[in-house]
Amino acid sequence: MSERTLRLYDTMTRQLKPLQLVEPGCLRFYSCGPTVYSYAHIGNFRTFLTADLVVRTAEAIGWSVQYVSNITDVGHLTQDDVADAGGEDKMASALKSKEGEHFHNVWELAEYYEDAFLEDWARLNLRDPLVRPRATQHMREQIVATEQLIKGGYAYETPTGVYFSVESFQGYGKLSGNTQENLRKAVREVVLDDNKKEQADFALWKKDDKHLMQWYSPFGWGFPGWHLECSVMARMYLGDTLDLHAGGEDLIFPHHECEIAQSEALTGKPFSNHWIHTRFLQVNGEKMSKRSGNFYTVRGLLEKGADPLAIRYALISGVYTKPLNFTDQSLSDAMGNIDRFRRSDAAVAAALEGGTDGPDVIGSTLSDLYDQALDAMLNDLNTSVALAKALEGTKVILREAETLSKASAGSGKEYLDKINALLGIVRHERELGSAAVEPAGPKIDEARILSLIDERAEAKKSKNFARADEIRKELDAEGIELRDSPEGTTWHLKTAL
Ligand SMILES: [Zn+2]
Repeated sequence: MSERTLRLYDTMTRQLKPLQLVEPGCLRFYSCGPTVYSYAHIGNFRTFLTADLVVRTAEAIGWSVQYVSNITDVGHLTQDDVADAGGEDKMASALKSKEGEHFHNVWELAEYYEDAFLEDWARLNLRDPLVRPRATQHMREQIVATEQLIKGGYAYETPTGVYFSVESFQGYGKLSGNTQENLRKAVREVVLDDNKKEQADFALWKKDDKHLMQWYSPFGWGFPGWHLECSVMARMYLGDTLDLHAGGEDLIFPHHECEIAQSEALTGKPFSNHWIHTRFLQVNGEKMSKRSGNFYTVRGLLEKGADPLAIRYALISGVYTKPLNFTDQSLSDAMGNIDRFRRSDAAVAAALEGGTDGPDVIGSTLSDLYDQALDAMLNDLNTSVALAKALEGTKVILREAETLSKASAGSGKEYLDKINALLGIVRHERELGSAAVEPAGPKIDEARILSLIDERAEAKKSKNFARADEIRKELDAEGIELRDSPEGTTWHLKTAL
């Protein structure tokens, strides 16, 4: 195999370029995690899946990955799209909401939604980061960083908090294009605090002795600004300069712009050599919103009977650099494809036990297809090509399913294991608690479905079309749809989004 490298579209330089690792063979990677004030939606998971695919692809070419992804449990304010966020802490506002009534306090709420998030994470077969640091557990480091920024002349204290002075940092705006001059012109940057030097100056520490989560600091009781946790935790676990930093496109500004300013002001070194951002997810052609009723969570889809790996498949079916439209059809197609991988896996397992002693007739084709899938992933995580190549492999296996030799089955197994390591779509890689993986929807007895499919094929062969039709209808009534093709009949769960 020739020397392979991972090329990704870099938001900072606006070009596709290979990752340049500070330490060869070791990727230091930070990806912004969720704010645990509610269930994460599938759009959030699309972003986390991009990070997951980076890890898997890097490992596929032999890199070790130092992967850190945080949990935000304080300081993320509701108006988070302006230079210096305003509004209320998302955690506190969630406690006041209808769902918040179930919790005694904000800490309990954070713990509940963090657990729910980790459950969904496992169901979608995402790799765990090496460290998953929480903002509330890194208070000392955030306070020290704030003091250092004041000392360095990058931040100043007012009666309401400590603010980073964007004027003090030359490179402010280099990621997003929102330079200080541009921000001055922006209409939404209303003056929130008369004591601030510039409207765009953002909070490192908010003084607030009424806040539900507060800590004592040299600047008084209060809590840290949202951006600071990532700067501090990335540095603590990965060093001054990261190889890659990732997040959703909504984080480019202000979150990542502010992280860069803080980190580079603190260290005098580049914060990250590469930046990637996942584009938005739409559902049925529209922006997801609770109001329009198309707001989907992983657990919501599972309750409707969706298969967790099919949700994963549908969410990675489009490249991360383009918006993705998640639809009823895309989920249903994904279910069909996941079913192909499962049937291939079962056929291979059966032939490893009871296959013939013939030669390996599929190994070299499968090995080529895996290489093509890997090459597609190395080329800016081109999941649409990689998934197509992966599926071609199942065709090769299923075509031979009845006559697989032990040797062919060995190659089939190796192929499916490697595809699973790369894309995570063949089977779950970890044991999940039954509660974590069992969808609350219909219970599926696959053996029974397969025997009914066989019985139907026999009935058709003997021209007993009435019985064949009866079987189809029986399964249909249970929410299982049969599809006939030249390669045989497959079953799919009917979903309704
Ligand atoms: Zn972050």
